[in-house]
Amino acid sequence: MTLEQTLPICIAGTWRLGGGERYASHYPATGEPVAWLNAASLDDVEEAVQGAHQAFLHSGWAQRKPHERAAVLYRIAELIRERGEELAQLQRQDNGKPISETRALVASAAGTFQFFASACETLEETITPSRGDFVSMSVHEPMGVVAAITPWNSPIASEAQKVAPALAAGNAVVIKPAEITPLLALQLAQICEAAGLPKGLISVLPGKGSVLGDALTQHPLIKRVSFTGGTRTGKHIAHIAADKMMPVSLELGGKSPTIVLEDADLDHAVAGVLYGIFSSSGEACIAGSRLFVARPLYAEFMQRLVAGAARLRRGAPADESTQMGPLISAAHRASVERYVALGLAEGGRLLLGGQRPAGGIFDQGYFYPPTILEGLNNSQQTCQEEIFGPVLVAMPFDSEEQLIEQANDSLYALAAGIWSRDYKRAWALGRKIQAGTVWINTYKQFSISTPFGGWRDSGLGREKGRLGILQYMEQKSLYWGMNEQPLAWAGVEARA
Ligand code: NAD
Repeated sequence: MTLEQTLPICIAGTWRLGGGERYASHYPATGEPVAWLNAASLDDVEEAVQGAHQAFLHSGWAQRKPHERAAVLYRIAELIRERGEELAQLQRQDNGKPISETRALVASAAGTFQFFASACETLEETITPSRGDFVSMSVHEPMGVVAAITPWNSPIASEAQKVAPALAAGNAVVIKPAEITPLLALQLAQICEAAGLPKGLISVLPGKGSVLGDALTQHPLIKRVSFTGGTRTGKHIAHIAADKMMPVSLELGGKSPTIVLEDADLDHAVAGVLYGIFSSSGEACIAGSRLFVARPLYAEFMQRLVAGAARLRRGAPADESTQMGPLISAAHRASVERYVALGLAEGGRLLLGGQRPAGGIFDQGYFYPPTILEGLNNSQQTCQEEIFGPVLVAMPFDSEEQLIEQANDSLYALAAGIWSRDYKRAWALGRKIQAGTVWINTYKQFSISTPFGGWRDSGLGREKGRLGILQYMEQKSLYWGMNEQPLAWAGVEARA
């Protein structure tokens, strides 16, 4: 790939220039272009969906035995691993995450394909208990063409979480990656084809979500949308889906509480809270962005937290030791800055950060430091809205009752963290916190074998887990008559 080239995009197995405007993916650490491509046009959306539909009908993919589909998915996992370093470096440039993180995301994508290959070849259908002279079964069928719409913060890992189960289930997939981070999805499509996926079963349509994502969602041949992104976009998609009676899964935003009880192991809690909010520069749906600390511990805990945050290594994403790279774009950094200004206007006090760093690479890229605010109360806007950056609001609490009420007082309910040495208390509290995922004495740990998703404005449906493959299938019941005699209802006349 050279900078002079305009990259082709993948339209149902045909690699050619998109029909939309030429634009570049930029390296957020320097603002320099990484690669140029043409966005897809609305005609490209039509061609991709029609081509995917034909491939679904005629490629034989859906009819292959599960172990045969699984073999292709295992091969995709292998190829991702073989090209792991190249993909991690490309992703570092595409979205500016530190190289240590992008390596982990690439490894996670490979693991996801391996996991769903295994889920595919071991999926069992059910013979249900018979209640008559028949054998009754529940089976699952692929849906057709599904759309995978993904955000910019974890390319390849997000796409893998949708594409792997969708293909394993026998479908065709059209990916609409975030406009500003299109490169890894294109690489993934190449890898799928190289692994032997029949042509046409995968497409990648880079460009504006409000145009292309909308057209895809509305398209009558799209039978399911799996979406990860902001809550406002998710609700818009849910409205379209309601009109089409189309299933969707929506992985949306968060404002997750992290709770430090008075008996917490402080070393573990400080390390966990720092990782929960400041890794990925806070650009994570599950960022632990609201911190509640038991009042007797508050002063000491905050002192240690601020010292720890000040020591985080910020800098070039290519540097192996960097923990925090730049934010994704100038516009996003401006939005984070507006939230910090709002927090101050609401009466918050800065314990750390709040000022753009200067000098060297900090002057070129979209860097923002770890920022900690206190003095706010949970109902204020800064504590209620998702900032999606390295900004933590810290609040002391006096009673468990007050804590539970405030932790649950959010439109979001994606994740939560609890730090306590008392496992029985942490268990009881964990059951009372409303969230799709609760981490106890750890944070932001993931397993592809464990379902993930949010409650309330954080989403609908679940990804991951062995049964995640069923999200991409329609259930069907089959009855096999075993009657020795004709059905009785028509009576003897019918038998004459
Ligand atoms: P976004 O909603 O702006 O965009 C997400 C995707 O949707 C992009 O591909 C975009 O082009 C597309 N899109 C935009 N408008 C659309 C429309 N009208 N119809 C169809 N598609 C459309 O989100 P973003 O800024 O890219 O990502 C950040 C958000 O994603 C944050 O809110 C974050 O919390 C959320 N997120 C959630 C999870 C999760 O698993 N819950 C994971 C990562 C990110």
